Amino acid sequence: MVNLLRLIVLFALIYFLYRLFKGFFLSPEPKVGCPQGREVIGDGEDLVEDPNCHRHLPVSQAYKTFIDGQTAFFCSRKCCEQYRSESETIKKTNHQDE
Ligand SMILES: [Zn+2]
Repeated sequence: MVNLLRLIVLFALIYFLYRLFKGFFLSPEPKVGCPQGREVIGDGEDLVEDPNCHRHLPVSQAYKTFIDGQTAFFCSRKCCEQYRSESETIKKTNHQDE
């Protein structure tokens, strides 16, 4: 029976893809975003705090930007954009209250 053999091969292939798929999503540490509980500390470098995710990181690895004339450091551009949009929302809300 050729059809049965094909079916077995197909199931094996689906199982293999399923394993691959599962392994991909269950990978312990994503490389993007803000991993929590893991601090990267350089040699004698100043640590700065990301005001968005409150993670400490060395200045040289931080994403630097200016918000309202003040320097702010973020672990990633994603955090920076998130923080900016949140502070803008707060500003708008405050403005409406006045
Ligand atoms: Zn962050």
